[in-house]
Amino acid sequence: MSEQEMKRTDELYNAFKEHFSKGSCYKCGSSLKAFSSKKPCIHWFLRPKDFKKKHFKSLFGLYGYFQMEAFARWVANQDDPVTNINDLDMEKSEKKIIETTIKYKHIEWSFSCSNSDIEGHVNSQQGNFPHFHFQMRLDNKPFINYKDFHIPLKDEDIWKLAMINQTEIPIEHHFRYGEGMQSALSDDTLEFLIDNSEKAENESEATYKFNTIVTAKQGQTISGDDIADLIEESKRTGTPFAKLAHRLVANVQTIVKAGDAVPELAKRTSTKKNK
Ligand SMILES: [Zn+2]
Ligand SMILES: [Zn+2]
Repeated sequence: MSEQEMKRTDELYNAFKEHFSKGSCYKCGSSLKAFSSKKPCIHWFLRPKDFKKKHFKSLFGLYGYFQMEAFARWVANQDDPVTNINDLDMEKSEKKIIETTIKYKHIEWSFSCSNSDIEGHVNSQQGNFPHFHFQMRLDNKPFINYKDFHIPLKDEDIWKLAMINQTEIPIEHHFRYGEGMQSALSDDTLEFLIDNSEKAENESEATYKFNTIVTAKQGQTISGDDIADLIEESKRTGTPFAKLAHRLVANVQTIVKAGDAVPELAKRTSTKKNK
């Protein structure tokens, strides 16, 4: 992202945030709850009353993949930053270029794009152009399914995706102000997370899950009582065991994963029908 682009994104985001906090749309200026089929707008993602699946098509061409996903990410991060966005590489299918699930209150959006979507499904009547797929659920119930639409990629999408999809020139793409679990779980943040996390009262509210493996150093043993003491302390104080474990004279390795509060990636089943 160039400095100019960053500045532009900052301005847009600030406008978005300010409008959003008042319940209005930074794009069209109307209430986030307002719907008019004649005025297609990205705030339809919030499912204003009367917005139906058939209207979704009106957004095609107006917004491309990056614009739609950026909006969903910004919205999600107004509620519970990072946790609401599952964009984890380790959970993504290898065949997919894009696979993201984003949650905001009772709404869940998922984006999916494979190489065959970018190329267009050649022998198919529908979708024989560069596109991506989109799913929207309300209260966990289907509203828009992946197979319902082939959403055209814009030229800028195709170009950006080609950049992300190559390895010769190292580039890093991230959604400014729309960071998700992938950036939270990057290597340089792990230590910070372990040091600064508190135990969630309820596992379903946990953003991260720490799996700590304690093994004895060569020629030594670990006392089970010491471990039990630390587990007890963790329960009592809310300090994650992963952090306390470093007090043990032992090898301690912690693997950080997305916790139960992070939405599950909504997978696209790869039957012919779904294309
Ligand atoms: Zn709007
Ligand atoms: Zn497709």
